[in-house]
Amino acid sequence: MRNNAKKIKIIRSPLALQKFSQKMLAQGKSIGLVPTMGALHKGHISLVKMSVKNNDITIASIFVNPTQFGANEDFAKYPRRLLTDAKLCSEAGADIVFAPQPKDMYPLPLQTFIHNPALETLYCGKYRPTHFAGVLSVVAKLFNIALPSRAYFGEKDFQQLHVIRKMAFDLNFPVKVIGAKTIREKSGLAMSSRNEYLSPKERAAASSIYAGLLEAKKRYAQGEFSVAKLKGIIKEKIERAGGKIQYVEIVDKRDLMPVASVSPKSVILLACHFGKTRLIDHLCLI
Ligand code: AMP
Repeated sequence: MRNNAKKIKIIRSPLALQKFSQKMLAQGKSIGLVPTMGALHKGHISLVKMSVKNNDITIASIFVNPTQFGANEDFAKYPRRLLTDAKLCSEAGADIVFAPQPKDMYPLPLQTFIHNPALETLYCGKYRPTHFAGVLSVVAKLFNIALPSRAYFGEKDFQQLHVIRKMAFDLNFPVKVIGAKTIREKSGLAMSSRNEYLSPKERAAASSIYAGLLEAKKRYAQGEFSVAKLKGIIKEKIERAGGKIQYVEIVDKRDLMPVASVSPKSVILLACHFGKTRLIDHLCLI
């Protein structure tokens, strides 16, 4: 069997990675960064492949970032399997896996955070009040450590992609933030490392999320522009399958503000639970 895997280097020290990246940039090489929390699936790998195609060097970071988890969330049980992940990155053509420990990223407790006050309390932020400050701050650190020319994020985490783009724009990070399509299971369920928490029954029922989103999109295409009606269609589908809705919102994808009436610029955002597992999804209406 042909083995496409490159020899991949695992770097744990932020300083060592920064030195490596400075050297690559001095040689005129472009760097693509794919930040992840590991337990990689085809969604993550699609980002790595995009980066490999468009950059001389691809760095995949694997870091379960404690500052983006709330006190009662799944930080401790989040799946960790560095060697399997490194092999997948290698097969996808990445050059470096950056896998720091929390003590490497936070030798002292973090006191400097990046906030987006307009968006960090909305949608996912309403239920995870410290989450986006944790995400933005660690992504800013990763940008300063890996010095990427381009950084790749999934539309899967739609609000996250938006606030990262806005941070890069607002603070003049010299990084092109690139969003990538959501990769789904055959059932329509968006791939996520957290899908591993689902029982087989819950996993099957969770396909109602995408089914609900598609149903709403179909009704919109047929002329239903009412936000309340479209939200109702999604809620009913998910609840009938046993899911518990946390929120469903229809927002303008340019600024993530709620819309009064649905348009081709709208995106549906939602979070729900199947059993104890919190899942998020989205669908653009064009
Ligand atoms: P995570 O490891 O969950 O923090 O995700 C790392 C990156 O992969 C983020 O930019 C996610 O949006 C992206 N991602 C996660 N799931 C998917 C998916 N199903 N399709 C595409 N990108 C994804």
